[in-house]
Amino acid sequence: MLSKKTNKIQPVRGMKDLYGHEYKQYKMLVDCAVLAGESHGFSVMNTPIIEHRDVFVKSVGETSDIVSKEIYEFTDKGGDLLCLRPEGTAAVMRAIVSEGLTQSMPLKLMYYGEMFRYDRPQRGRYRQFRQFGFEHIGDKSPYNDATLISIVMNLLESLGVSGLSLCINSIGGQESRARYASEIRKILEPKISFLSHDSRIRLDKNPLRILDSKDKCDQDLCASIPPITDYLSDQEREYFANVCSCLDTININYSIDTSLVRGLDYYTDTTFEIKVDNLAVCGGGRYDNLLSEFGGPSVSGVGCAIGIERLFGLISVPETLRKIVVVIPVSDHDIMYAYNVFHSITGTRKEFIHIGDMKKKMQKANKLCADIAVIIGETERQSSTLCVKNMKDGSQEIVDSIGLMNIIDRS
Ligand code: AMP
Repeated sequence: MLSKKTNKIQPVRGMKDLYGHEYKQYKMLVDCAVLAGESHGFSVMNTPIIEHRDVFVKSVGETSDIVSKEIYEFTDKGGDLLCLRPEGTAAVMRAIVSEGLTQSMPLKLMYYGEMFRYDRPQRGRYRQFRQFGFEHIGDKSPYNDATLISIVMNLLESLGVSGLSLCINSIGGQESRARYASEIRKILEPKISFLSHDSRIRLDKNPLRILDSKDKCDQDLCASIPPITDYLSDQEREYFANVCSCLDTININYSIDTSLVRGLDYYTDTTFEIKVDNLAVCGGGRYDNLLSEFGGPSVSGVGCAIGIERLFGLISVPETLRKIVVVIPVSDHDIMYAYNVFHSITGTRKEFIHIGDMKKKMQKANKLCADIAVIIGETERQSSTLCVKNMKDGSQEIVDSIGLMNIIDRS
C-alpha cells in the first residue's frame, strides 16, 4: 500500500489512475469506436462489472488461465459466488438471455468498460484494464467475420495507429478440435517431462492451449505438431477460405497463424488478433455455442475486444480537441456578456478568465498555453462583436460568433 521508497500511498498493483492525456485518449477512443459501431448498426450495451462466477466458467472455460488463475472472485454477504468480470463477451451473452433479447436476432452490440485479471503486471498488461468490444450475433456468414475485422482495422487506422498487423486462423468446431487435441496428446505425452509445469496440466485438460505457451521449450516441442488446419472438416475449411476471400476482396492484409488458438474456450472457426509492434491490441473470433450455454438459442456470433490501455500513445488526439480557447472580459462590466460567449463555444477546450487585471488575465492565458484568446471589452459588447487574438502569432481580428467558430475550426 505504501511505497517503501517514497512512503506514498499507491494504487493496487497492476491498476492505474486514468487522468490527463491518457483520459483524453480513452474518451476519444470510446467516442470514435461508438461512432464507428453505430455507423455499422451496433448499439451500446454496458453490463455490470460484477457477475456470477459461473458466467465465465461456462463460457471462457474452467481450465482457461482467465478462470483458473486470474479471476478476482469473492463470496458476497448473501453467499453468492461472484467475480469482477474478466472479459465482456460472456457477460453480453448472459445479458442477451437475461433481458429477453433472443427474439430480436441478429443483434449487433458493442460495450466498453473495465475488465479485471489477476495476471503478472508487465508492459501493456494490467490487473484492471479497459476494453472496447463488438459482438454480432445470430447471423453466421464469412462476410460478418471479415466486416468485423475491417471495422476494427479502419477504426484503428482512423485513430492514427500505424504498423497494424492482422493474424487469423480457424480452430474449427468441437469435433475437429477433439481430434486435434488427441493428436497433440499423442505427440507430446512421450515428451511430457520436457513440458513446462502449466503445459503438463494443459496436456490433460486442454492440450490446444499448449500451442499458445510463451515457454521456449514448449514452443520447440510444438514445432513437431501439424497445424490445426489439417484437422478441419471440409465445411470448416471452406468457411475459413471464404473469410480469407472476403478480406482479400476488401483489401485487408493478413497472415495466417495456425498456432493462434486464443485463451478463451468459446471460440469456434475463425480466431484473429491485431498487433502493433508484436503486442496484441485486439483479439476476437467466432463462437457457435456461446449463447446456447446461457440458455439462449443455438446461434453463432462473432466478436472482438480492443485493449484500450495498449493504444495509449499510439493514437493521435485530433488538433481541434487540443485547442485551448480562453474568454477574457476586459472589465467587470463585460463579464456577463463574455460569460455568455464562453458558453456558446463548443467542440474545443475552453477556459473563462475573469479574475485580476488585464495583465494577470493574459498571464493566466499564457500559462494555460492558450491558442486563442477571445477578448471582450466595451466596444465589442456595444457592437455584439468579439476581438479574437491568435496567441501564437499575436494577430487580432474582430468577428461575430460564427466568425469565432470558423477561426477555431481552421486554426
Ligand atoms: P482477450 O479478452 O484476452 O481476447 O484480449 C483482447 C485484448 O484486450 C488484447 O488484445 C489486449 O489488447 C487487451 N488485454 C487483454 N488482457 C489485458 C491486460 N491484462 N491488460 C491490458 N490489456 C489487456
